[in-house]
Amino acid sequence: MRYSRQEIIKFIGKNGQEKIRKTRALVIGAGGTGSYTIMSLAMLGFGRIHVIDDDKIEITNLNRQALYNEDDLGSYKAETIFKRIKKINSLVNISYETSRFDSSNYEIVRDFDIVFDCTDNITTRMIINDACDKFRIPWVFMAVSEFYGQVKLINPGITACFACYNRDPGEIPNCDVTGIVATTASIVSSLAVNTAVKFILGNTDEDLLLIDSLNMSIEKIKINKNEKCRSCSLHDYKYLGRYYSNLKGIIP
Ligand SMILES: [Zn+2]
Repeated sequence: MRYSRQEIIKFIGKNGQEKIRKTRALVIGAGGTGSYTIMSLAMLGFGRIHVIDDDKIEITNLNRQALYNEDDLGSYKAETIFKRIKKINSLVNISYETSRFDSSNYEIVRDFDIVFDCTDNITTRMIINDACDKFRIPWVFMAVSEFYGQVKLINPGITACFACYNRDPGEIPNCDVTGIVATTASIVSSLAVNTAVKFILGNTDEDLLLIDSLNMSIEKIKINKNEKCRSCSLHDYKYLGRYYSNLKGIIP
C-alpha cells in the first residue's frame, strides 16, 4: 500500500519499485541538499541508505536543512536524520557514520549502487569522482548557490566525468560565503534524485542541468567525455593517493 501511488505510474510500476527497493544509496553530506535527498530517497522506498557526515547542527543550518529543528542544535546531522528517517519509513535500512568523506575512507563507495554528492566543495567532489571512477559506481553531482544549481549524472566508463569539465579546485567559496536558501536546496536535490530514479529505471539522462530559479529556467548542456581526462581516461586518481580534505586542501 505504501508505494501504491507511485506504482500506478506506468514508468515505475511494481517492477520499477522493486528496482528502487534493491538500490543501495550512499549519501555524502547531510546538509542542505543532503537532507532533502535523504528524505526523498526514503519516501521513494530506496531499500538501503547510508549517510556520511561529520557536521553538527547549527542555528545557521535551519534556514534550509530539512528535518532538523531547534531541539537538535549541537547534535550530529547524520545521527539526527537517521532517527527522523526511521519514523518516515521504517522499511528503509538506513545507517550513518559521523565522519568526513575524504581520501582516507573513499573505498566505502564500492559497497553501493549509486552515490549522491551532497557536499559543498570541489575537492570532495574530485575525491568522489576518482573513487567512483575507480570502482565504476554511478554518482549524481549536485551543487547549489543562492538561487542557482547544477545536477549531473556521472556513469563511469559511459558518460563524461566531473574532471572532464572541471579544473582542479582552487579557492572556490562554499555556501558559508555565497548564500543558499531552502527552495534551491529542495529544487536541486529533487532534480538529482529524479535523475537517479530515471537512471535506475533505465532512462539515462547524462546532460548537465543548469537550474536558475530566479528566471525559472533549466538548461541542459551536453558534456563530452574528455579523451585526455586525468580521471576517467588516464585513471590518474590523484585525489585518492594523498590525503585530501575539504578543510585544508592537501595535507601531506
Ligand atoms: Zn573524465
